Amino acid sequence: MGAGDYYDILGIPRNADDKEIKKAYRNLARKYHPDVCKEPGAEEKFKEINEAYSVLSDEQKKAQYDNMGHETYTNASKGSYTGGGGFGGGFSADFSGFGDIFDFFGGGQRRSGPQSGADLLMRIQIKLEDAVSGVDRDIEVMHTEPCVACNGSGSETKKLNTCPRCGGTGQMRQAAHSAFGQFVRMTTCSQCDGKGKIPEKICRECRGSGHSRVKRTVSVHIPAGIDNGMRLRMEGYGEAGDYGAPNGDLFIEVYVQPHERFTRNGDNLETTIEISPAMAVLGTSVEIETIDKRHIDLRVPAGIQFNTALKIQGEGIKRRGKPGDLLVRVKIVTPKSLSSEQKELYQKLAELEGKSSGSGGFFSGIMGGKKKSKK
Ligand SMILES: [Zn+2]
Ligand SMILES: [Zn+2]
Repeated sequence: MGAGDYYDILGIPRNADDKEIKKAYRNLARKYHPDVCKEPGAEEKFKEINEAYSVLSDEQKKAQYDNMGHETYTNASKGSYTGGGGFGGGFSADFSGFGDIFDFFGGGQRRSGPQSGADLLMRIQIKLEDAVSGVDRDIEVMHTEPCVACNGSGSETKKLNTCPRCGGTGQMRQAAHSAFGQFVRMTTCSQCDGKGKIPEKICRECRGSGHSRVKRTVSVHIPAGIDNGMRLRMEGYGEAGDYGAPNGDLFIEVYVQPHERFTRNGDNLETTIEISPAMAVLGTSVEIETIDKRHIDLRVPAGIQFNTALKIQGEGIKRRGKPGDLLVRVKIVTPKSLSSEQKELYQKLAELEGKSSGSGGFFSGIMGGKKKSKK
């Protein structure tokens, strides 16, 4: 490659303007396209033409090229692409259409046209009781909305012009060199940021962005049964998109605060109660306060064992369909100090236990019951 000066390749004077460059390129590209021209060396020539045009059609590169001269520029740009995904796709040629002849597919960030707005993520804390039955919340969100002054266009006149730099495509050509020859890669236009349009007269309110930053109150319904880390999606409450493109979404991540009396286990709630050994033996009735502060009498049956869970149906998470249950775990607490009367009674009890279960006493029934009972 590198037969000569890019201007010579395109057959134009050094002071040729954009139009002349483009015109010369299109004529030559038509003539030497490998699908059209079967002359020997046509393909090589076609590559040269593309290389020349990719530099001379880019304002920045053209300036560099003019400054550095052909030799220095081509040496400097060689190897500036160290592989990577950009060159995967093929290209299609379009000789009839308006504008660009080459259209590369695949690889690179192909970003053109109006972009939809970014999503936002907010975290909120709720109480466990709100997760149980659901709650409505008003949430303040800082996000961008279309600028009121220019209707989101970014232009004071609300009119947009085609970007002169990219001709409205939102993309720019970028030459890349590799061992296999030269490629043209598309990059986002820096003047219009890929939108293809620029404001006719830049809006003073938003400085042409078309967006303004505002605080909004959003009413959110947090459904019953929501659990830690779950996200709610509020469609369209994210950042404003480009003019004519949809807004992003607002995601609300829910953090459920721990409750001092209740823990959650799936759709069930759990709590504990403490009773004395006598209550455990004889059975009792305990008043339970539910998570929504109602009072329910729970009957604890006689002979209940430590850590048994008693179920109160339907007092768990109130999800649609079948609500969960409340499990009440029974802890039997041994008294640490006794009145003399209590002590007397316990002693009497212990004596009785000793007599009724034979010489081994109360524990023989548990620890060595089988052996002893054979005596
Ligand atoms: Zn542009
Ligand atoms: Zn504006």
